[in-house]
Amino acid sequence: MAGQTPRLTLAEELLSAIGEGRTTVATASRFAAARVAEGGADASCTMLADCNTRNGERKLHRWAKGQWWRQLLPEPYSFEAPLQKLGRQVSGHLHCILPHMLFARLASGAPLVFDQLFGSAEQRAAFWSELERTGREEPEGARGRVHREWLRRHPVLSSVDPLKRVPVGIHGDGGEMTSGEKVMVLSWGGICNPGATLDTRLLFACLKESEMVHEGHATLFAAFAVLAWSMTALADGVHPRVDHNGRPFASDHWPAMARVAGQPLSPDSLRAAWLELRGDWQFLRAALHLQQHYGAINVCHLCQVTSRGLGHYGEHLSRASPLRLTLVTARGWQSGTPRSPLCQIPGFNIWRCSFDAMHTLELGIYQRVIPAALCELLGVPVHLREQGIFGRGNVAARCMAATRAYHAWARETRVPSSSRVKAITAGWVKGVTPQLSQSHAKAAALRAMLPWVATLCEQQAASSPRRAELLRALLAMDRVWLRAPRFLTRQQADLAAGHCERALAALRALVQAQQEAGAQGPWRLIPKVHALTHLAYDGAMGNPRAAHCYQDEDFVGRIKRIYVRCHGRSAPLRAVQRYALHCSLRLNARHELLTGVAFRDPACVGEAVTPAASSASAAASSSRGARGVKRGRGRPKSSLR
Ligand SMILES: [Zn+2]
Repeated sequence: MAGQTPRLTLAEELLSAIGEGRTTVATASRFAAARVAEGGADASCTMLADCNTRNGERKLHRWAKGQWWRQLLPEPYSFEAPLQKLGRQVSGHLHCILPHMLFARLASGAPLVFDQLFGSAEQRAAFWSELERTGREEPEGARGRVHREWLRRHPVLSSVDPLKRVPVGIHGDGGEMTSGEKVMVLSWGGICNPGATLDTRLLFACLKESEMVHEGHATLFAAFAVLAWSMTALADGVHPRVDHNGRPFASDHWPAMARVAGQPLSPDSLRAAWLELRGDWQFLRAALHLQQHYGAINVCHLCQVTSRGLGHYGEHLSRASPLRLTLVTARGWQSGTPRSPLCQIPGFNIWRCSFDAMHTLELGIYQRVIPAALCELLGVPVHLREQGIFGRGNVAARCMAATRAYHAWARETRVPSSSRVKAITAGWVKGVTPQLSQSHAKAAALRAMLPWVATLCEQQAASSPRRAELLRALLAMDRVWLRAPRFLTRQQADLAAGHCERALAALRALVQAQQEAGAQGPWRLIPKVHALTHLAYDGAMGNPRAAHCYQDEDFVGRIKRIYVRCHGRSAPLRAVQRYALHCSLRLNARHELLTGVAFRDPACVGEAVTPAASSASAAASSSRGARGVKRGRGRPKSSLR
């Protein structure tokens, strides 16, 4: 019944474990075989027990295709893309889950589940009302003009009733697996309601980086062309009549899609509005084919700051900087050099491809500022400007004293143990300008540690008032964001921008003092300091902390775990299929929780894969779904062709 957690059968538990990357098909199959030997196994378990063979996994996915719960997610869509194999460029196939098909399945067949993933009508109405408020409250000037123009010109926002619009965003990032191999995970999802990672992020595709053709971002752009095509269908609210290459769907070309071509995606004529692209700077550089980036002379794609202006003068750091008159316009940027296929997404705007707060602060500025401050506070020999407050022993002894003080503070302020740094070691203050990596401290740990460093700097404010000001202002800026909802008020946006300006002025003064003394020191103006100016000054009242990549990183980690369990050659397809297994079982459980019955809605599945369940066998099966149903003639040609 609704309100209770549905009990999963052994087969469902095993399938979920495969789909989460917790086990392999072979291991799950052995467990199922043991249950069969004991007796009392159901049809699903018997089928799974049969999958410990060479083509066992293929058999498993074919069987799943005939199950009602699996209809909650569409079958993978395959497309051609240039790939790198054995040192040669070849044409191969990649696989994805089409956003518009998934959207249509849930909106038509499981509307309550849809509301949980994409926001209920009330949540969406509140979201749009707040977004429109930011358009009214943005002050005159370049930033306000750009924001209002985007709101006015967005094809979905300008023409569709707010109750019929669903806000969505895209994320991409590469994750490194234990083998050293990297996989790029592309995802999308609703953005107006907070929720669990697997509800708010939905897999589009995962690409093995060693197989990608990086020249001209050929492989990535082939995937983006499909994504942009599907996002366009979402914006139109209609099933497309042609595939991503413009070829019409027909009885011999994706017949399931031909059957629904031209029909609305949902009975309520819902349409999705693309609002944001998230990812670290490296991903933005590749995804948008940026010529201006952290490694180039022209550092920023949003203004004309150069690497020289960035490091030496810091002239770009204040809101009154002349450089802020060089901000690009969305149309000016689009009319430049050839762009990524993502630019084809209706409503695309370069100002909605923001720098990410987590990568800019925790994995950028904090990784420099915290060790720089600690160098001085510890009185590390290379930085002999002050005595150090952790005794006069060697560096290791001072680090140990600092670690003890930090842990005492963390206990006192009840920092969760998962967000604590284990130890401050000599590696933290090594070199002239030390920099931390994620092996020293994770992003969340650095964020939790910043108040402690700020307190120490405050206590030593007499010896370095600028350092104290830098930490104080950084902390205040982040606190405004962390405590605010997704959209800031005018006052909150100005407050955060003011704190940012004070922090960066203090950092600039520390760097200048270092340069004037002719000494090398720990303070440095890195490109991410410039990225922070755009986050704080040009965020269009969107709260950077409401769209940061913490949950996206979690999602990438989960997909990585699935991918690493798949066999090398077939991994790109199998990872998508296994994700679909787990995701559809999860959504089915959610459906059961919300409605009291497992998912079984022929209206939803009619447009695509029709399970072979005859009406008689379907009626005979339990309300927990038509388990053990055989595959039938309705099965379409799919990516397994
Ligand atoms: Zn810039």
